[in-house]
Formats: sequence, structure tokens, C-alpha cells
Amino acid sequence: MSSEPKKDCNICPEWDCQNVNDFKNVWVVGEVDENGISEPSLQMLTPANKIASKLNTKIVGLLVGYNVKKYAKEFIEYGADEVIVLDDERLSMYSPHIYARTIAELAKKYKPAVIFISATMKGRELGPYVANTLRAGITADCTDFDVDEKTKDVLLIRPPFGAVLLAYIKTPTRRPQIGTARPNVFKLPPRDPNRNGEIIEEKIDYIPKPKARLVSRKLLPINEVPIEKADLIVSGGKGLGNVEGFKLLEELASKMNAAVAGSRKAVDMGWIPHEKQVGQTGKSVKPILYLAVGISGAAQHMFGIREAEVVVAINNDPNAPIFSQADYGIVADYKQVIPALIKEIESLKK
Ligand code: FAD
Repeated sequence: MSSEPKKDCNICPEWDCQNVNDFKNVWVVGEVDENGISEPSLQMLTPANKIASKLNTKIVGLLVGYNVKKYAKEFIEYGADEVIVLDDERLSMYSPHIYARTIAELAKKYKPAVIFISATMKGRELGPYVANTLRAGITADCTDFDVDEKTKDVLLIRPPFGAVLLAYIKTPTRRPQIGTARPNVFKLPPRDPNRNGEIIEEKIDYIPKPKARLVSRKLLPINEVPIEKADLIVSGGKGLGNVEGFKLLEELASKMNAAVAGSRKAVDMGWIPHEKQVGQTGKSVKPILYLAVGISGAAQHMFGIREAEVVVAINNDPNAPIFSQADYGIVADYKQVIPALIKEIESLKK
């Protein structure tokens, strides 16, 4: 592909996205919930830092919503050089087409070279809406980012078709380049309370009306901690043989206060829901302990646990690939090991 900007684009004549040299800065979209800026969106400051230093440009945090200005300093403390805030009551309810429209309006004004969005539930929806509104490309679920030293295009890197290859994707003729990465693919940068930066308050005249209305919100019960936030995970695979195997894992997990997760094959068998799938097409987790039971250790699964501190594998095949990557291995039938573990924990609690 040529890096020469095309001059005759009719796709979006009102928006000059092709003079790529006019675009600068790396944006990170901050997702805000009742606890502040979500950790996954702050994690995106880590690749933003790498790219901004390679492009010799700034990291700009973007806060769009209602009552969000109070989080701008936190964004800076984690690494943003400046923060653009659009704090508006009309944005009190998240709606992808409204948020995308406002982010796109700001992007047209400030012309960021890159926009990073965390691939959370919201981000997975918002990213393509933003890209479509700007007629820009988007690369989802990146595992790394880099810069083409010659052209200064950002390389959006992700494994296609089963993690055997790595694709380096760029959009040399259009800006901004948009990339998402799943939670926990990047580490949270250190927080520095002494960091300062500029906070730019923005206003917007027109905000479209929501197409949907929030009827109710329900918080997950405390014992259903999302696996990406769990410190202890007991995870099962096809080797469990049936859904009863998962019942045994759940019993162990409840004794350990652990979350239960599974491999894709376990999900495909209908033994565990997709939101508990670990791996390339599931979630990345970063527990202190990951207990893998009846999981062979395919690359796509192991991708999701590369941030786990200690991996313990239980597998009845001594040649299972997981043993070459686990910290501790138990070669045995899980039906013998798990009940013994449950018994042991119970006796320790007495
Ligand atoms: P298997 O590979 O069938 O392994 C079962 C294991 O259980 C075996 O090692 C066996 O020895 C052991 N076992 C059997 N009986 C017992 C017993 N009684 N006690 C103890 N051990 C026992 N996979 C994911 O997990 N997550 C992903 O996100 C993911 N994404 C993918 C994306 C793509 C594009 C592709 C192509 C594949 C993806 N996969 C993913 C699938 C992946 O390649 C593997 O097929 C899958 O991880 C295997 O699941 P498993 O380990 O549960 O099953």
C-alpha cells in the first residue's frame, strides 16, 4: 500500500482524515464506572507510552460522560500528559452511538494519530462505532503495538487465525489509527501522585438522543467476581469429561474463595459460560494462582494466563504440553486429586 494520501476521497468529504501528517498524539479512551476510571482503560496507557515516545508525541486521556472531570487527575497520575474532558449531563447514560459521535467530533477537532480503547464489554462495542463514525480502520484485540520507523505508521499487532502467526496491521492513508486490546494484556502503569498535566474542558452543542433507555442495573453477587479480577482461579478443560466435573471444581473453588474458569473446549461443551473462557478468544487473567485441571495447554489457552503468577496443572497425561509451562504439575486423574484437595482444605479450616 502506498503511503501517499489520496486526494479524491468521497467517503467523508467533510473530514480530512487523509493528510496523515496533520495528526498527532496518542489518545486513550477512559472508561468510567462508579469506582473511577476502569483499570483496563488505564492499562492502555502502557502501550500508549511506548507509541508516544516512538512518535515523539503526547499521551492524551479522553474522558467522556457525566461527572467524569474528577477523574482527570487520576488519568494524569497514571501517565496521560493531558486530558480532554467532555462532562455533560446528556452523557449520563452510556450509549454507543452517542459516545462514538462525541468522541468522533473531538477527534475531528484535535486529530489524534492513534486512539487506544480497552476491549472491555463497552469498548468492544464502542471501538467499531467510533471507527465507523470516523471512517477509520480498527484492529481489535491487539497483543502489541509498534511504530514503522520509516513511515511512522503505528503497527497494530495481533495473532490471526489461531496464534500461529502475528499480523502487523497499519492504515497508511488514513487517520486516526484505532486499536483495542483486551483487559490484562498490558500491565497497569505505576501511579505517580506528583505527575501534573493539562486538563482541557470541552463542550459540544449537539448530542443525539439515546435510542435505548436504561431500565435497571443489577450488580453481580460478590461470589461471582469476574475472572479477570480474581486472585485465585480454578479452571477446567475438556479433560473434566462432563459438567459434573465442573461441579467438583466449583466445590473446590468455594472452599478456596476462588473463581471458576474454563478452556474453550469446556465452553464449547456447554459446561461453563463464554464469559469465563480463558485465552486468546476469551479473557486474559492475572491471578496469583491458576489451577488448570484437565487442560492440555494449547497456545491459545496459555496466551490468557501469561500474567498468572503461579500455574499448577493437574493432568493424567505426563506428556501434556501444559507441564512444560506450569510451575507445578500433578500427573493424576483429577477425580482423585480434587476431592483430596477439598478434604485437605476442610481439615485445615477445622
Ligand atoms: P484438550 O486439548 O482436549 O485437553 C484435555 C486435557 O485433559 C488433555 O491434556 C488430557 O490429557 C486431560 N485429561 C483427560 N482426562 C483427564 C482426567 N481424568 N484428569 C486429568 N486430566 C485429564 N482455547 C482456549 O482454551 N481458549 C481460547 O481462548 C482459545 N481460542 C482459540 C482461538 C483460535 C483461533 C483457535 C484455533 C483455537 C482456540 N482455542 C482456545 C482452542 C485451543 O486450540 C484448544 O483446542 C483448547 O484450548 C483445548 O482445550 P482443553 O485443553 O480443555 O482440551
